[in-house]
Amino acid sequence: MVDCCSVPGLVPLESAMAQLFEMVKSQQQEQTVNLEDALGRILAQDQISTLDIPPKDNSAMDGFALKFSQGATGQKLNMVAKVFAGHPLTQIINNGECVRIMTGGQIPEGCDAVIMQENTSAEANIITINQTVQLGENIRSQGEDIKAGQSVLKAGRRLTSADIGLLASLGKQQICVYKKITAALISTGDELKKPGQELAAGQFYESNAFTVSAVLKRLDVEVIDFGIVPDDLAQLTDVFTQADQQADVVITSGGVSVGEADYTKIVLEKLGKIDFWKLAIKPGKPFAFGHLPNSYFFGLPGNPVSAMVTLHQLAVPLLRKIAGETAKLPLRLNAVTTQKIRKRPGRTDFQRGVYEVDATGQLKVSLNGAQGSGILSSMSGANCYIILQQERATVEVGEQVTIEPFDELLC
Ligand code: AMP
Ligand code: MG
Repeated sequence: MVDCCSVPGLVPLESAMAQLFEMVKSQQQEQTVNLEDALGRILAQDQISTLDIPPKDNSAMDGFALKFSQGATGQKLNMVAKVFAGHPLTQIINNGECVRIMTGGQIPEGCDAVIMQENTSAEANIITINQTVQLGENIRSQGEDIKAGQSVLKAGRRLTSADIGLLASLGKQQICVYKKITAALISTGDELKKPGQELAAGQFYESNAFTVSAVLKRLDVEVIDFGIVPDDLAQLTDVFTQADQQADVVITSGGVSVGEADYTKIVLEKLGKIDFWKLAIKPGKPFAFGHLPNSYFFGLPGNPVSAMVTLHQLAVPLLRKIAGETAKLPLRLNAVTTQKIRKRPGRTDFQRGVYEVDATGQLKVSLNGAQGSGILSSMSGANCYIILQQERATVEVGEQVTIEPFDELLC
């Protein structure tokens, strides 16, 4: 393990992430849930189809099923039966015959094409072909979507709405997923109160436990809020010990910046093995990570925007891995900035922006107001991060910048 405290200067985000990613293990605990309850859960096993989808050749149109060899323009055919979806025919179709068929109806034996109703004319049961048919025309063939034995979804995938439908079409009623992981949230600081409590002089309402909890709930992490713990050695030791016993991950905010809030540091160093990182990012420089006896520990900075940036950029990818999810790259796009954005080289900036597509189809982005690390309204009104790479200096109007939309980040 790299001792980051002894590394002079700041650690680039990518290298911190690569190291931290190696330090966490994916959980192995499985449970079975009903398909209806599987949205957003993480598959614990590959899903193999036991069926062909569609199960048999069927019609993509309302029309007439026939033999392709009998389907030249001007041919007259005798309609001998009707096929509705869910009611296959047992009779075999011969030369000179055709069958009225509805969308989804199973193609009768002997037929290998369907002509659209609009390309025929009918007089009683005699159907005239008005446009020569092609072999296989308007037929959805057996197994064209999925073949029996095919691996359809891989373990580690977080199930989407479409996945749930896909699994239903395979006849899967119960799904083996990883158990939800549990995170304990702790806010530290004498100055903090929860909404609903009276504020004394010098106090204000804490917000980090609320933003973190909201993101974690959308990530399907169970949250236990241990509330606000004052800057007090005994109380911090007591709460950290309880949190470690009850959760897979303990997440704190505040008290990880160097030179203050020493209690958190003392307690953590007594209870576990924690590294205090100084990251080359803005906002969000201090970040703590480590192991308590039973759990992982993430220490987010106290400033509300810094807490969210480190949550999104470090804690969430790590939590996804711990929960058993396969890693995927974040969606990042290029946009043209409509504004000059001041920056000094040395740290990667995560500024809060608003992107939109202009009338010409160009993706454009502007800053969402003042960018201080305590200004939470800059996050609330934004719809993306504007990511300015470490070595980049001030960006002029019209330059390309990288953006990361918030939807992807569970904002
Ligand atoms: P700290 O790292 O504890 O010095 O906190 C840095 C700044 O963030 C201070 O201004 C704290 O008051 C503030 N802060 C710490 N925790 C929270 C919280 N849970 N919600 C809102 N602000 C906080
Ligand atoms: Mg503090």
